Amino acid sequence: MRLRLFRVLLTLSSLSRPAATFQTTLRAPTTARTFKSMSFLSALFGSSASASNNTMPSSTTYPDQRTADEWRAVLSPEQFRILREKGTERASTGAYDKHSPTPGGIYHCAGCSAPLYQAQHKFASGCGWPAYFDSIPGAVERHEDRTHGMLRTEIVCANCGGHLGHVFKGEGYPTPTDERHCVNSVSLRFAEPEEGKGNEEGAGEGKA
Ligand SMILES: [Zn+2]
Repeated sequence: MRLRLFRVLLTLSSLSRPAATFQTTLRAPTTARTFKSMSFLSALFGSSASASNNTMPSSTTYPDQRTADEWRAVLSPEQFRILREKGTERASTGAYDKHSPTPGGIYHCAGCSAPLYQAQHKFASGCGWPAYFDSIPGAVERHEDRTHGMLRTEIVCANCGGHLGHVFKGEGYPTPTDERHCVNSVSLRFAEPEEGKGNEEGAGEGKA
Protein backbone atom coordinates (compact mmCIF):
# COMPACT_ATOMS: atom_id res chain seq x y z
CA MET A 1 0.00 0.00 0.00
CA ARG A 2 2.68 2.50 1.04
CA LEU A 3 4.94 1.15 -1.69
CA ARG A 4 2.25 1.74 -4.29
CA LEU A 5 1.80 5.28 -3.01
CA PHE A 6 5.53 5.78 -3.25
CA ARG A 7 5.50 4.58 -6.86
CA VAL A 8 2.70 7.00 -7.67
CA LEU A 9 4.70 9.80 -6.12
CA LEU A 10 7.76 8.76 -8.09
CA THR A 11 5.71 8.74 -11.26
CA LEU A 12 4.37 12.17 -10.46
CA SER A 13 7.81 13.51 -9.77
CA SER A 14 9.21 11.90 -12.90
CA LEU A 15 6.71 13.98 -14.85
CA SER A 16 8.78 16.84 -13.44
CA ARG A 17 5.92 18.62 -11.83
CA PRO A 18 6.95 21.17 -9.23
CA ALA A 19 6.64 19.84 -5.67
CA ALA A 20 3.94 22.35 -4.81
CA THR A 21 1.78 21.05 -7.65
CA PHE A 22 1.74 17.44 -6.67
CA GLN A 23 1.09 18.25 -3.05
CA THR A 24 -1.99 20.08 -4.23
CA THR A 25 -2.91 17.18 -6.50
CA LEU A 26 -2.87 14.74 -3.61
CA ARG A 27 -4.88 17.15 -1.44
CA ALA A 28 -3.84 15.39 1.77
CA PRO A 29 -1.25 17.08 3.95
CA THR A 30 -0.58 13.78 5.75
CA THR A 31 0.36 12.17 2.45
CA ALA A 32 2.83 14.93 1.76
CA ARG A 33 4.36 14.38 5.17
CA THR A 34 4.58 10.64 4.55
CA PHE A 35 6.41 11.28 1.34
CA LYS A 36 8.89 13.52 3.10
CA SER A 37 9.59 11.00 5.85
CA MET A 38 9.83 8.18 3.30
CA SER A 39 12.45 9.96 1.27
CA PHE A 40 14.30 10.68 4.51
CA LEU A 41 14.12 6.99 5.40
CA SER A 42 15.25 5.88 1.98
CA ALA A 43 18.20 8.26 2.27
CA LEU A 44 19.12 6.60 5.56
CA PHE A 45 18.58 3.21 4.05
CA GLY A 46 20.85 3.99 1.15
CA SER A 47 23.71 5.10 3.35
CA SER A 48 23.50 2.11 5.71
CA ALA A 49 23.30 -0.32 2.79
CA SER A 50 26.47 1.14 1.33
CA ALA A 51 28.28 0.69 4.67
CA SER A 52 28.92 -3.04 4.59
CA ASN A 53 31.49 -2.98 7.40
CA ASN A 54 28.99 -2.51 10.22
CA THR A 55 30.69 -4.03 13.27
CA MET A 56 27.77 -3.97 15.71
CA PRO A 57 25.57 -7.06 15.90
CA SER A 58 22.00 -6.09 15.12
CA SER A 59 20.41 -8.58 17.51
CA THR A 60 19.23 -5.97 20.02
CA THR A 61 17.45 -2.79 19.10
CA TYR A 62 17.72 0.44 21.04
CA PRO A 63 15.74 3.68 20.83
CA ASP A 64 18.78 5.38 19.27
CA GLN A 65 19.42 3.28 16.14
CA ARG A 66 22.22 5.19 14.48
CA THR A 67 24.32 3.19 12.02
CA ALA A 68 28.06 2.61 12.40
CA ASP A 69 28.75 5.33 9.82
CA GLU A 70 26.53 7.80 11.64
CA TRP A 71 28.35 7.07 14.90
CA ARG A 72 31.73 7.47 13.17
CA ALA A 73 30.66 10.94 12.08
CA VAL A 74 30.01 12.14 15.65
CA LEU A 75 32.46 10.13 17.79
CA SER A 76 36.24 10.34 18.06
CA PRO A 77 38.08 7.18 16.89
CA GLU A 78 38.71 6.25 20.54
CA GLN A 79 35.05 6.79 21.49
CA PHE A 80 33.99 4.67 18.50
CA ARG A 81 36.40 1.89 19.42
CA ILE A 82 35.10 1.70 22.99
CA LEU A 83 31.40 2.59 22.66
CA ARG A 84 30.63 0.83 19.38
CA GLU A 85 33.29 -1.91 19.25
CA LYS A 86 33.35 -2.80 22.96
CA GLY A 87 36.93 -1.69 23.50
CA THR A 88 38.56 -0.89 26.85
CA GLU A 89 40.65 2.13 27.76
CA ARG A 90 43.97 1.47 29.47
CA ALA A 91 43.74 1.28 33.27
CA SER A 92 44.37 4.50 35.21
CA THR A 93 44.38 6.66 32.06
CA GLY A 94 40.74 7.77 31.94
CA ALA A 95 39.64 11.34 32.59
CA TYR A 96 37.10 10.25 35.21
CA ASP A 97 39.12 7.56 36.99
CA LYS A 98 40.06 9.86 39.88
CA HIS A 99 37.42 12.47 39.10
CA SER A 100 35.63 13.93 42.14
CA PRO A 101 32.27 15.04 40.76
CA THR A 102 30.39 18.10 41.95
CA PRO A 103 27.42 16.84 44.00
CA GLY A 104 24.29 16.88 41.85
CA GLY A 105 26.22 16.41 38.61
CA ILE A 106 25.38 13.65 36.16
CA TYR A 107 27.53 11.35 34.05
CA HIS A 108 25.96 11.07 30.59
CA CYS A 109 26.55 8.61 27.75
CA ALA A 110 29.29 10.10 25.56
CA GLY A 111 27.48 8.74 22.51
CA CYS A 112 23.82 9.71 22.87
CA SER A 113 23.91 11.96 26.01
CA ALA A 114 21.46 9.83 27.99
CA PRO A 115 21.94 10.38 31.77
CA LEU A 116 23.52 7.22 33.24
CA TYR A 117 25.06 7.83 36.68
CA GLN A 118 24.63 10.40 39.40
CA ALA A 119 27.65 11.97 41.08
CA GLN A 120 26.66 10.26 44.34
CA HIS A 121 26.89 6.80 42.70
CA LYS A 122 30.65 7.16 42.19
CA PHE A 123 33.09 5.65 44.66
CA ALA A 124 36.86 5.19 44.84
CA SER A 125 37.47 1.56 43.97
CA GLY A 126 41.15 1.90 43.11
CA CYS A 127 40.64 -0.41 40.12
CA GLY A 128 41.86 2.05 37.49
CA TRP A 129 38.48 2.93 35.98
CA PRO A 130 35.62 5.07 37.25
CA ALA A 131 33.41 2.96 39.54
CA TYR A 132 29.74 3.38 40.40
CA PHE A 133 27.72 1.33 42.88
CA ASP A 134 24.43 2.06 41.11
CA SER A 135 23.00 3.74 38.01
CA ILE A 136 20.02 5.94 37.20
CA PRO A 137 17.05 3.50 37.08
CA GLY A 138 16.60 1.96 33.62
CA ALA A 139 19.60 3.78 32.11
CA VAL A 140 22.00 0.83 31.98
CA GLU A 141 21.36 -2.58 30.43
CA ARG A 142 23.20 -5.79 31.31
CA HIS A 143 24.31 -8.57 28.96
CA GLU A 144 26.14 -11.82 29.53
CA ASP A 145 29.68 -11.56 28.13
CA ARG A 146 31.63 -14.77 27.55
CA THR A 147 34.56 -13.26 25.64
CA HIS A 148 38.22 -13.68 26.71
CA GLY A 149 37.45 -17.00 28.44
CA MET A 150 35.55 -15.31 31.27
CA LEU A 151 31.94 -14.99 32.27
CA ARG A 152 31.27 -11.33 32.89
CA THR A 153 28.31 -8.99 32.80
CA GLU A 154 28.66 -6.29 30.19
CA ILE A 155 26.87 -2.99 30.74
CA VAL A 156 25.61 -0.83 27.88
CA CYS A 157 23.68 2.41 27.55
CA ALA A 158 19.99 1.40 27.40
CA ASN A 159 19.28 4.19 24.92
CA CYS A 160 21.93 3.60 22.24
CA GLY A 161 23.55 0.26 23.16
CA GLY A 162 26.92 1.97 23.61
CA HIS A 163 29.42 -0.19 25.52
CA LEU A 164 30.19 1.19 28.98
CA GLY A 165 32.17 -1.57 30.69
CA HIS A 166 31.27 -4.41 33.08
CA VAL A 167 29.51 -4.79 36.40
CA PHE A 168 30.91 -6.92 39.24
CA LYS A 169 29.06 -8.04 42.35
CA GLY A 170 30.04 -9.28 45.79
CA GLU A 171 33.56 -7.87 45.90
CA GLY A 172 33.10 -6.53 49.42
CA TYR A 173 33.18 -2.79 48.75
CA PRO A 174 31.40 -0.93 51.55
CA THR A 175 28.69 0.47 49.28
CA PRO A 176 24.87 0.13 49.51
CA THR A 177 24.76 -2.42 46.65
CA ASP A 178 28.13 -4.21 46.79
CA GLU A 179 28.19 -3.79 43.00
CA ARG A 180 30.88 -2.10 40.97
CA HIS A 181 30.00 -0.65 37.58
CA CYS A 182 33.46 -0.51 36.04
CA VAL A 183 33.05 2.08 33.27
CA ASN A 184 35.38 3.48 30.62
CA SER A 185 35.80 7.25 31.04
CA VAL A 186 35.68 7.52 27.26
CA SER A 187 32.07 6.27 27.36
CA LEU A 188 31.05 9.10 29.69
CA ARG A 189 30.63 12.86 29.75
CA PHE A 190 30.16 14.59 33.10
CA ALA A 191 27.74 17.50 33.29
CA GLU A 192 27.81 19.96 36.17
CA PRO A 193 24.47 20.37 38.01
CA GLU A 194 23.60 23.64 36.19
CA GLU A 195 24.17 22.12 32.72
CA GLY A 196 21.61 19.37 33.11
CA LYS A 197 18.84 21.66 34.40
CA GLY A 198 15.71 22.06 32.34
CA ASN A 199 16.67 20.07 29.27
CA GLU A 200 16.64 16.53 30.49
CA GLU A 201 13.72 14.98 32.33
CA GLY A 202 15.68 11.88 33.31
CA ALA A 203 18.39 13.97 34.93
CA GLY A 204 15.82 15.74 37.07
CA GLU A 205 14.19 12.50 38.15
CA GLY A 206 17.49 10.94 39.04
CA LYS A 207 18.41 13.61 41.53
CA ALA A 208 16.02 12.51 44.30
ZN1 LIG B 1 23.98 6.10 24.83
